[in-house]
Amino acid sequence: MYNIVNLIVFTFVHMKKSKLDQSRLLSPATLNNFLKENALFDSLSVLGTSVEHRPIYSYTVGKGPKKILMWSQMHGNESTTTKALVEFWLYLKTPEAKQMLDACTFLMIPQLNPDGSDVYTRVNANTVDLNRDAIDLSQPESRILRELYQQFKPDYCFNLHGQRTIFAAGNSQTPATISFLAPAADQDRTITPAREKAMKLIVLANTMLQERIPGAVGRYDDGFNINCVGDYFTAQNTPTILFEAGHYPLDYKRVKTKKYIFNSLVTMSQAIASDSIERVEMAAYFEIPENKNHLRDIELYNLKKAPNGKPVLENNLLIQFKEVKKGNDIDFVPEIVAESDGLHGMQRINAQEHAALMNLCFEAEISKIENLTKRISLLSFHQLV
Ligand SMILES: [Zn+2]
Repeated sequence: MYNIVNLIVFTFVHMKKSKLDQSRLLSPATLNNFLKENALFDSLSVLGTSVEHRPIYSYTVGKGPKKILMWSQMHGNESTTTKALVEFWLYLKTPEAKQMLDACTFLMIPQLNPDGSDVYTRVNANTVDLNRDAIDLSQPESRILRELYQQFKPDYCFNLHGQRTIFAAGNSQTPATISFLAPAADQDRTITPAREKAMKLIVLANTMLQERIPGAVGRYDDGFNINCVGDYFTAQNTPTILFEAGHYPLDYKRVKTKKYIFNSLVTMSQAIASDSIERVEMAAYFEIPENKNHLRDIELYNLKKAPNGKPVLENNLLIQFKEVKKGNDIDFVPEIVAESDGLHGMQRINAQEHAALMNLCFEAEISKIENLTKRISLLSFHQLV
């Protein structure tokens, strides 16, 4: 009987959760409705307001001495980590999380940039990139994060972001489904004690992820930029981890990626709670391949010259989706990549197998090629070929 009740409860929660998976657009209104439906909204505090006077919320849970500060969507068009964070909140309500909540106090901001989240922009309403504002603190959102950091005095910071489909894990053609960085604390990229802790947590998450998505974890370049929040906090001796939710093949809504971010949040939090970081081998951090930006969404190959002998499109054609807000959703608008040297398409489409596409290629109707390619790529290939 208990199992059946559990299953019903799980299904109910799971169905609700899937609401957030319907679009990459995650407006504050959608998020807040979801939190209300899941009895989380009343637990939120208001930290202050954004440029357009939207409230910036935080959620604090746990009563342990180890303090973990997390913030997501400081870039408004990076919603995957917010969805993972909310899933983490639901997880923290389960009995399984009790030990973690005894050991840690979590302070979490789901949307640091609610204005950008509402319109799906990286920047805030003053068109400022909040992740380049750590020193200037020119924006209310930046000041809210800094004040919270100073008051809460976290032992760890999780800086939650999303990355484009162009990134591969190293020189491979495997998209970097998740990337991490333990940001530098100075120009010399010294491995300070804070950095070392961040690296070890990343090693733990990477070990867990390799079992699920082998070869699909990347590491960001650690060039130092004190204007970036992660670099600034690391320079203040707080271990800070940059998370980047990336692409999993054909998962444009990033439902799978969300799960792997969630798994990473749990793995790292458990390690902090159980004091199991120190024994991790730091060297493994440098074995994670660095992100390379040589991937594009689609590659159209096997193009032929036009029947009249006039070459129209001789080379392979690469297409990249541009994410555009359309109503309450995100449209993936295909665009031809002008300079394709050294780049690779993730979905390779044989133009010879698509008569309509070939005809369009001969006529060089670029916009139609883009639209047709999008249709072919987003549906199952087998249905169309
Ligand atoms: Zn970002």
